[in-house]
Amino acid sequence: ATFTKPVTVSLIEGDGIGIEITASVKKIFAKAGVPIKWEDCDVGPVIKNNNTAIPDEAVANIKKNRVALKGPLATPIGKGHRSLNLTLRQTFGLYANLRPAQSIKGYDFLYKDIDFVVVRENTEGEYFGVEHEVNSDNVVSIKLITKEACERVIKFAIDQAVKTGRKNVVVVHQSTVQPKTDGLFKEVGESLVNYNKDIKLQFELLESYIYRSVKDPKIYHDAVVVAPNLYGDIITDLNSGLAVGSLGMTPSANIGTDVSIFEAVHGSAPDIAGKDLANPSAMLFAGCMLLEHVGLSEYSEKIKKAALATIAEGIKTGDLKGKSTNSQYTDAICAKL
Ligand code: NAD
Repeated sequence: ATFTKPVTVSLIEGDGIGIEITASVKKIFAKAGVPIKWEDCDVGPVIKNNNTAIPDEAVANIKKNRVALKGPLATPIGKGHRSLNLTLRQTFGLYANLRPAQSIKGYDFLYKDIDFVVVRENTEGEYFGVEHEVNSDNVVSIKLITKEACERVIKFAIDQAVKTGRKNVVVVHQSTVQPKTDGLFKEVGESLVNYNKDIKLQFELLESYIYRSVKDPKIYHDAVVVAPNLYGDIITDLNSGLAVGSLGMTPSANIGTDVSIFEAVHGSAPDIAGKDLANPSAMLFAGCMLLEHVGLSEYSEKIKKAALATIAEGIKTGDLKGKSTNSQYTDAICAKL
C-alpha cells in the first residue's frame, strides 16, 4: 500500500502509562520532523449485540487512515466480554503480529546479541475465544485453525524474511500432539516451500524450538519464526525476556490486509502510571515500525539511533536499572535529534 505524505495516523492514547508514553512519542516525532499528522481516536469500548465493540466513529477513522499507533488498553477483569485488544484484531482482521526482539547496548541482559524476529498468527487458535462449560467440573476450549489464516500468516513471514534479509523461515508447530490443527498449520507451510525460492522453510516442534532458542539463540538469528497464536504469544514474551528483560523496550505490529495497528507489547502498567517513570521506548519503536510500514524508514532509523545512543550513554528509565524519568529520557533523545 502507498501512503501520501504527510501521512495521517490514528492515535489511540490508551490507559495508564499510555498517556505519558504517547506524549513522549509525539514530542520525539515532532523534533525529528516526521511528516505525519496525528488524529486522536477513542476506541471506546461500547457494547453491541451483547459483545465488546469499537465505536463506529473510531472504526471509520482507522479504516480511513489505514494505520494507527496504539497505547496499552486496560482490560477490565471479570466483565465477561471479550477484551478490547482482541476486539481490535477481529474488527480489522489483523492477521499477523510481528515482533522483533533485539539486545540493546548499554544494558546487558541474559545474552548480549539477541536478534529474533517472530510472526504470530493473530486471529485464531485458542484465542478464537470460544469456551464451553460441559458442567461445573468439565470445560472445553475450541482451537480454530483455518487454511486461509495459516496461508496468509506464513506467506507474511516469508515476505518478512525477504524484507529483513533473512534466509530461513522456521514454522513452529506441535503436530505430534495436535495432528489436526497444528497438522494443518504445518501442511500449509509445506505447500508454500516454493512460494519464494530464496527462502528456505524449516519445520520445528514447539518443544524443540523453545529448548534450542534458549540454549543457543543464534540458531534463529538468520530466520523469521512463525507460529500459531498461543505459541507465538508465549515465544514472543520469552524473547523479550531473553533479549532485554524489560517489556518497556519491545514493540509490535498488528498487520491486516487493509489496516495495520502498531503498539507496545506491554500493558497500561497501573503500578507506575502518572509518575513519569515509564519507559516510552516500546511505543516509540512501535511508531518506528509504523514509519517503516508507510515508507518513512529514514525517520525511523534516525529516531531509533538517537534512542539507543541515549540508553548507551546511561540515560535510561528504572526498568533498565537507570535513574532517569520518562521526561528526562525523552528530552535527551530530542536533544540528539
Ligand atoms: P503490564 O505490561 O502493564 O505491566 C507489567 C510490569 O511491567 C509492571 O510492573 C509494569 O510497571 C512494568 N512495565 C510495563 N510497561 C512498562 C514501561 N513502558 N516502562 C516501565 N515499566 C513497564 O502488565 P499487567 O500489569 O499485567 O497489565 C496491566 C493492564 O494492561 C491490564 O488491564 C492488562 O489487561 C492490560 N494489557 C494491555 C495490553 C495491550 O493493550 N496490548 C497488553 C498487556 C496487558
